[in-house]
Amino acid sequence: MSENYDVIVIGAGPAGYVAALRCAQLGLRTAVVDDWLDADGNPALGGTCLNAGCIPSKALLESSELYDRMQHDVKAHGIGLKGLSLDVTAMIANKNAIVHNLTRGIAALFETSHISWYPGRGRLLPEREVSITQHTGGQQQISGRHVILATGSLPIALDAAPLQGEIIVDSAGALDWTTVPRRLGIIGAGVIGLELGSVWRRLGAEVTLLEAQDLFLAMADRQIASTARRLFARQGLNIHLGALVKATRVTDGAVELEYQDGTGAHTLDVDRLIVAVGRRPCTEDLAAPAADLLLDERGFIHVDDNCATNLPCVYAIGDAVRGPMLAHKGSEEGSAVAEQIAGQHSEVNYDTIPSVVYTQPEIAWVGQTEEALKHAGIAFRSGIFPFAASGRARAMQATDGMVKVLSDAESDRVLGVHIVGAQASELIGQAVLAMEFGASSEDIARTVFAHPTLSEALHEASLAVDNRAIHIGRNRSPANP
Ligand code: FAD
Ligand code: NAD
Repeated sequence: MSENYDVIVIGAGPAGYVAALRCAQLGLRTAVVDDWLDADGNPALGGTCLNAGCIPSKALLESSELYDRMQHDVKAHGIGLKGLSLDVTAMIANKNAIVHNLTRGIAALFETSHISWYPGRGRLLPEREVSITQHTGGQQQISGRHVILATGSLPIALDAAPLQGEIIVDSAGALDWTTVPRRLGIIGAGVIGLELGSVWRRLGAEVTLLEAQDLFLAMADRQIASTARRLFARQGLNIHLGALVKATRVTDGAVELEYQDGTGAHTLDVDRLIVAVGRRPCTEDLAAPAADLLLDERGFIHVDDNCATNLPCVYAIGDAVRGPMLAHKGSEEGSAVAEQIAGQHSEVNYDTIPSVVYTQPEIAWVGQTEEALKHAGIAFRSGIFPFAASGRARAMQATDGMVKVLSDAESDRVLGVHIVGAQASELIGQAVLAMEFGASSEDIARTVFAHPTLSEALHEASLAVDNRAIHIGRNRSPANP
């Protein structure tokens, strides 16, 4: 006889563990099956995000930024430092301790929420039976009235650059190096390429990113992306666009890359290489053929707007389904599905999911870009405020970048907010909140912001939509002459 649950969640990343915790809050008898093992071979909750994604990368971004600022920024504040040193092993140990604490925290929440945790690989069988292959090889079967599939994603491999030990690695490998490579190559100048490139550049590596597309950060607003690119170049991140890697050769502990761009064939010698060309859904062999789970042509689990799959009472959320591969998107889907299962009405507003690149300066946006609005033929007005005109940014010596607000030309409803600048990841939350409540740029312009704060740049950019920003005088952009 298999154990029965109200809900079985397969996958305990930010999508699955949040779904499970919300199910438990709503009084549903919940089980979670997850196959993640940490470096010591112990089961660990939290999925990619906690173990090898969001959290460890942000820990290293924080440590490396501190080191960089100590070297380059403190002098202007009248602070002299002698004997600054770098211990990368200690930095990695600190990152590991942060990860361990958080993953143990999820285990504790599971315990207090009476969620049954089954370490091992789950497979969906017909009629919402789930088979579990334990790490020891043992087999078990449980059954659920509902099943939530939250198996996440895996890095896309590149035939031209197969992984090799510590020399050619994916993002997970690059979070564990204990020495700084002299010359670092990165294939893919997307979010991971830029964040991990920033970490290792700040710690002293010469970093070259080879990006296949001709556009830099294609999903971002062009003005924001080109500002960011200029700032990254100033930091020493060498970004080659339109570069296709044809082959890699590892000899004497170094890598030779052959790549092609608009100007012809080139070679690049590096000491280590990160492959960061996107991620694919982790759905291989997730369901037995007899279960009849529908996947799309790229392997994502097919779902409707409410995360329901083609099978009754089977849902799918997070990176394994359509939409941006972001932890907060998966978590919101997890909560919404749990609430639907409990009989509540709940949905995710996909129009207000923020994106952040945690470089320095940070890049963050929500809603539509100027290019998308033009493409859709939507008339809009724009207001821009540069951080150089912000008193707080000047006090922080963080004057790079801007806030850009786009609003509907007729209704003035905010359609998009784009930021490149210090603490953009925090500032964007205000824009998300405004858009969630259907605010106009006038609503933000009439809101009182504390002085002196970086948030005032959002206020001023909203005033600029109506050509009345205070600290830059009259702002006349082509969109609102
Ligand atoms: P995952 O977190 O991938 O979790 C899925 C879990 O399911 C894993 O534990 C996996 O082992 C398990 N699993 C898979 N198949 C099975 C099976 N058959 N049986 C049992 N268990 C299974 N996103 C952000 O929003 N912000 C960031 O700052 C950010 N930084 C990132 C940095 C890096 C380096 C990387 C790689 C990603 C980052 N992401 C970030 C993306 C984020 O990690 C993912 O969007 C998020 O983890 C997806 O959550 P998920 O729950 O869908 O899947
Ligand atoms: P990405 O899609 O952001 O970037 C991959 C880049 O690689 C793209 O610019 C793509 O054009 C390029 N590329 C693809 N094939 C290539 C090739 N053969 N040669 C050269 N370039 C090539 O993906 P990623 O950086 O791998 O990140 C994976 C996912 O994880 C993303 O969807 C992202 O949303 C998520 N993530 C989010 C954060 C964050 O929220 N801060 C951080 C890291 C990762």
